[in-house]
Amino acid sequence: MKAILILSLFALMVCSNCTQYKTNQVPPKGITNNTLKTSRTTDLHDGPEGAVRNPHPLSLADLRAKYKSTFLLSGPSSKREVALTFDDAPDDRFTPQILDVLKQEGVRATFFVVGNRVEAHPEIVQRMINEGHVLGNHSYSHANLPKLSDADFQNEVVKTDQLIQSISGYKPTFIRPPYGNISERQIQWLASHHKVIVNWNVDSLDWKGLSAEQIRTNVLAQVRPGSIILQHAAGGVGEDLTGTVQALPEIINQLRNDNVKLVTVPELLSLPK
Ligand SMILES: [Zn+2]
Repeated sequence: MKAILILSLFALMVCSNCTQYKTNQVPPKGITNNTLKTSRTTDLHDGPEGAVRNPHPLSLADLRAKYKSTFLLSGPSSKREVALTFDDAPDDRFTPQILDVLKQEGVRATFFVVGNRVEAHPEIVQRMINEGHVLGNHSYSHANLPKLSDADFQNEVVKTDQLIQSISGYKPTFIRPPYGNISERQIQWLASHHKVIVNWNVDSLDWKGLSAEQIRTNVLAQVRPGSIILQHAAGGVGEDLTGTVQALPEIINQLRNDNVKLVTVPELLSLPK
């Protein structure tokens, strides 16, 4: 009991020593001027400046939920329709093969083209138009858009729109951001320019250089009415899309056997191209 009393008295002495300590004095061991200053400062009511001025960006899922009419992953599930979409075209290796299969099967698809590739192969884009396919904007340089300044982002979009319009005669409604990435600020700008962002809800993962069998399984296992299917019609350097070309007739035939109609994105969404 005596020992406890002595200990309590000692603790009180230490504490009163703390409160009496002034910043111009040498701080007691283990206490720095900084920690003392912080402890005496009233906290900011709504949290640190940095947290409020730079809120953590919303996730893609949050953005899709918030901008339902501008940012789409699929069409209505009420009709047995799906859209085949192909990214990164045109090249002069795989894109013509994809176009050959689509022509042979009598299917029209939607191509999200890269502006600088449109400049390199305008005749292949002209072929897409002649064969009834729809074009969407996939940026000028295949940039990761959220990393760009406003001016650079807008330039990627506008320049590619102009290239598409010069060949197709229309300014595309649809845009698909490379890697599916887009910021909230960019969504708002696109919405104010009457653009519709179209990602996908079925990913073939064909860019991994998968076999036809793997690609067919990836697509057919996930597909349902209203699906927007992501494939590629051109690759990066060294990417092999042979599996995509080979799987395509099988995917088309299986969907048709299941009474599924293959339509373009504007048809699926009932929007102008
Ligand atoms: Zn892409």
